[in-house]
Amino acid sequence: MDRAPSNAGSSPDSFSPDLEYDLDLDLAVKEIRERRAARVGLQAPEGLKRALPAIARHIEVKTDAEVIISGDPCYGACDIDTALCQEADLVIHLGHADLGSDHKNVIFLEARRRDELRAVTLKAVSLLKEKRVGVATTVQHIGQLGGALEVLKEHGIEGVLGPGKGRVRYPGQVLGCCYSSARQADAEEYLFIGTGRFHPLGISLATGKRVIAADPITGQVAEIDPDPLLRRRFGAIARAAEAKRFAVLISKKPGQRRMGLARRLKAAGEEKGKEMFLVYIDNIEPDRLLNLGAEAAVSTACPRIALDDAAKYGIPILTPPEFEVLVGKRQWEECGFDEIEQTD
Ligand code: SF4
Repeated sequence: MDRAPSNAGSSPDSFSPDLEYDLDLDLAVKEIRERRAARVGLQAPEGLKRALPAIARHIEVKTDAEVIISGDPCYGACDIDTALCQEADLVIHLGHADLGSDHKNVIFLEARRRDELRAVTLKAVSLLKEKRVGVATTVQHIGQLGGALEVLKEHGIEGVLGPGKGRVRYPGQVLGCCYSSARQADAEEYLFIGTGRFHPLGISLATGKRVIAADPITGQVAEIDPDPLLRRRFGAIARAAEAKRFAVLISKKPGQRRMGLARRLKAAGEEKGKEMFLVYIDNIEPDRLLNLGAEAAVSTACPRIALDDAAKYGIPILTPPEFEVLVGKRQWEECGFDEIEQTD
């Protein structure tokens, strides 16, 4: 998500963002006009931010609405700028698919990559062992999944997409915090098509099955090995077990906020003689925890904080299932992956 629009200085009437993504700006303009929104907020992840000034100008010219860009970080559809929602009649959240947000004045304008998936799927075929394979991707690639399924079929493999429901909107879609579609695909092996290792690791831990990751941007394909991550997480639990004072982190972001779970974890820790305190926080970063004096933390926010960012923190940070292992409420073998099923 990192190419700036090449026509940012051209006439707004001829503007179409020259991104590696398709964005339906006509839909945004239509919604603004139909809702008679006089003030419009724009929110996007970092990779799309450089396009926002040009998109704002385009909207102002097309609709006469005043546009305000959110300058805060945006990590996902869970991360609605609620303060901007109060300032604006309508907020356009770019890049992510709706998680089932109940904000009436937010619309989601998904960003779809144009890369076709046939070539990388063809490379992955030689690594697949089963004749029925669960196929998963992120929303950016969902529009091209048909090509991947065709390639599998041409090689005698049935590609199965799990249902899109709950936090995921499309069949085959996964989120860093939700692998329900993969689990429900009922397959013995999975093919993840997309970038990065977090999602295929999540599928591996959520399903316990073999996962092949195919990256359509780099063209690399590889089998995912979850063992190094599992060893690190077991080590984090062992280090946290030595701690007496625990911060229970609760996100202020609407789609990550799990207050009820945080309270249950606090009670479970106290039962075991730990000193537990709740911390309500927007962007969870190492500096924010320094002065609280916690010796360990359990994060009820986005699972990536504990699993992806652990090395940035001077104290062990556990996911809720890992903390339950620590206090003896579940076995390590049943730890699985932290998925957000409901917010409260
Ligand atoms: S909670 Fe994390 S993984 Fe889930 S949508 Fe938000 S940023 Fe993505």
